[in-house]
Order: sequence, then structure tokens, then C-alpha cells
Amino acid sequence: MKQVEKTRSASDLLGWPVIGWFFSNSKLMMAARLLVLTMLITAIYFGLVYPTEEINPYTGALFWSLFWPFFLILSMATLGTVFCGVCPHSFVGKYLNRIGPKKPLPAWLKNRWIGFGLLLLAYWIPIYIFPDVLKTPWVSALFFLVLTLVAWSLFYLYRNMAYCSSICPIGTVTSAFSKVGFVQLKTDQNHCQSCRSFDCTKACEWNLRPYFFEKKNSMGDCTLCMDCSQACNAVELKLTSPSTQLWKPSSAKEPMNVWVYVWLLAVISITMRFHHSLGHSSIKEQLPWVQAGQWLESLVSVPLLDWVGVMALSMAVLSTFAIVWGSFTISAKLLNMSFSDFFQSVGQFMAPLMLIGALSHIGSFFFLHYASDLMNAWYWLIGSSITVSPLATFRDGWIHLFGLFNYIAVIWALFVLYKRLSLLNLNGWKRVQIWIISGGIVWFYLLLVVFRAMIPHGH
Ligand code: SF4
Ligand code: SF4
Repeated sequence: MKQVEKTRSASDLLGWPVIGWFFSNSKLMMAARLLVLTMLITAIYFGLVYPTEEINPYTGALFWSLFWPFFLILSMATLGTVFCGVCPHSFVGKYLNRIGPKKPLPAWLKNRWIGFGLLLLAYWIPIYIFPDVLKTPWVSALFFLVLTLVAWSLFYLYRNMAYCSSICPIGTVTSAFSKVGFVQLKTDQNHCQSCRSFDCTKACEWNLRPYFFEKKNSMGDCTLCMDCSQACNAVELKLTSPSTQLWKPSSAKEPMNVWVYVWLLAVISITMRFHHSLGHSSIKEQLPWVQAGQWLESLVSVPLLDWVGVMALSMAVLSTFAIVWGSFTISAKLLNMSFSDFFQSVGQFMAPLMLIGALSHIGSFFFLHYASDLMNAWYWLIGSSITVSPLATFRDGWIHLFGLFNYIAVIWALFVLYKRLSLLNLNGWKRVQIWIISGGIVWFYLLLVVFRAMIPHGH
């Protein structure tokens, strides 16, 4: 390891006792990656061998009570792309990349929409359409088996870990949302400006240049694997104020990010508000998507297909895109800008709305499901007949406190929007006016949250 003379500041996590020791210790990081790889392989294996929930509580718990809420949502909201650092696909992919033919990625595959589009089509859209099918162990296992085989094949074929930077749907989501959190990989410019050895770049399998991250206000496709920090101690993992990367100007071209925010806001946040939150209220029968779904069900009943889910998803996607399009078009017109320039300049505020809002769900579901699911999975794995009940139920008043994250998400998104508007040199009343108009989707989200809080729970 290259050792430069430096003292780590208090905000550099690499100088902290436990975290710093973990990230600087390649053996420990290898052990963490092996553990996650073992989880992936066993979850897929048991999902295929024991295909139903009745006989297999393990596969579903690992994918939907551990990977999705904690490895993805919680880690993205705090430490950015930290999941990529222990990702089993890139862990094995690194070795495959070294022995493969190292071809350049074909131009047609350099398109983030391919992986992200498949994630929407293969997972987020079907989950509302066939809810009882998608979370069964064998379907979850098959989904992750195909994803794993595709990832490893592409790592083998194409150089510079191109699967991560151009195709991986999970990487597209983690890199877009990584700016919401409060850590950033940087380097000590006092040393980097005179450095000629570039040990950090040589160590980076993704061929990135971490000494430019701070200047560009973007970590690009960085997976936080920390290989660079193990190659040179000028690399720092700095704590920043939450979401500063979202409102500071960036010279990196990341046009996909804002589309990721809108799509996930539509298919996760707004659809869940329609289908799961309002759909479990006392006014359920009066909701337009419930009525339309029931009508379609009476016309064309398809086994396993949930027409109410289809209609909730369709109406949520339509409303989200209509509100974003309408509020952005008016704002852009008032500023004499093109829609796409305005969209790319301010759309970052939608990131915390989706991500911080999702914490309300995962916080309460930890007590309602995830903790007991994971403990039951463990007992099943060791052959014990012990079963654990959920730690709470909806009747426990305190569980609803997690709903406060929805309000935090609204305030956070409005704050980021206000900050981003200053990048367009807007001040005074004009800035307030555009802030109110362009924040249409935040007001809509707030309306849904407040409306739901005012009506009683259904049966
Ligand atoms: S981009 Fe995808 S494959 Fe690469 S490390 Fe992240 S999750 Fe893994
Ligand atoms: S810049 Fe560093 S942490 Fe990021 S991917 Fe490259 S080696 Fe890993």
C-alpha cells in the first residue's frame, strides 16, 4: 500500500475505529463478500429445491426481508453504494473479468435503460399484477438465478467491469440514489496533485479515477469496493451533510438518474400509497382503481392476476408522470427553458421523496415481518422447529410513528428542490413561485399521506 503522510480528519470514516478497520482490511471485506455470496447461492438453491413458502421460509426472507429493505433501501439512504462493495455478482465478476477475453462492450449494450427497463418489466410491474406468484421461493430464486448468470457471463466477456457501469439494474438504482446519503469517496488533493503513480486507479477494477470525484461532485460508477483505499491511504471516505451531492452542481453527465427517480417514485412510492396504504383503509371500496379493477375482474377473470393491482399501478404511473410533466412544463415555460433542461436541472429532489419515504415502510415492517421472517429463516436453516411471531402488529400505536418518515421525505425533497433552483440563478419571489409549481409531485405525495392519516384503517 502506498503510504502518504497525512492525518485523517474526524469526518473521514477510514480513520474511525471499527468502520475504518473493516474497510482497510481486505481479509475482512473478503469474508463479508463470501458471506453475501453464500447467502445468494443458498437462497437460490433452497428456492429451487423447496419451491413454496409453506416448506421454505428461507429464500423469501433473504431476498425480501434482508436484501431489499436493508441491503438496498437502508444502505442507499445512508452509505450510498455500499451494497455494491459486497455484491456477490461483482465479487465473482472481478475474477471472471481477469480471465475473460476482455472485449469492449458493444455500443448497443451501453444503455442503462436495458437493465433498468428489465427490472421494471420483470419485477416491479409484475409484482402488482401477479402478487401471489412473484414472491414465492421458486420464482424469486429463478429471478436471481437468471440475473446472476447474465451478470457473470457479461463480466466474463467484457472488460473494465462493464456490466456494473452500463447494464446492472441494481447498480443503476444504487448509483442514482447514492447521492441521498451522507458519505462520499474523496482523495486528499494535497497529495493527488503531485502524484504520478496513480495507485488508486491501477487498483480500481472499474478503471475509475477517484481523485476527480470531488471536483465532479460525482462518484460515477464507484462501487465502494475500497480497493483504491487499500492501495493508497490518500483515499478518504468522508461524511458529508446528508444529500449535499444532490444540490451541488455536478459536471458529470448522468441523464438516467432523474428518470430512475420518477419511475421508482411511480411504481414504488405512489403505487404503494394507492394500493397498499389507501387500499387497506375504510374507503377502499370507493377508490377508483379498486372499482375499475373489480369491474375488469367481473369481465375477464384471469387466474392469479390481480386486476385491482393492475389498475392501481396504471393510475399511479399515469398520475405521477402527468404531475411531473405538467408541473415541469409550466415551470420551464415560465423560465424560458426547455422541458428536458429543467427536468435534468432540478429533478434530483425526487430522490429523497422515494428513498426517505420508503423508510416509513421498512421501519414498521421490520417489527411487523422482517425480523421474525429472518429469525424463522435461521431456525429453518439449522433444522429447528422453533417459530417466532412478529415483534408487533398494526394494533400497536407506536408502529405508526414510522409514518413520520413520509413527512421527513416531503421536507427533504422540498429543501433539495429549493437548493437546486439556486443553480438556475433564481432568487426571491420567482424562486418561491417555481418551487411551488415544480414541486407538484411532492404536494401530491403529501396529500396522499395526510389523506390516509385522516381516515380509519379498514378491515
Ligand atoms: S453495479 Fe450491480 S453487479 Fe456491480 S457491484 Fe453494484 S449491484 Fe453488483
Ligand atoms: S474508485 Fe475505489 S472504491 Fe470506487 S470502485 Fe474504484 S477501487 Fe472501488
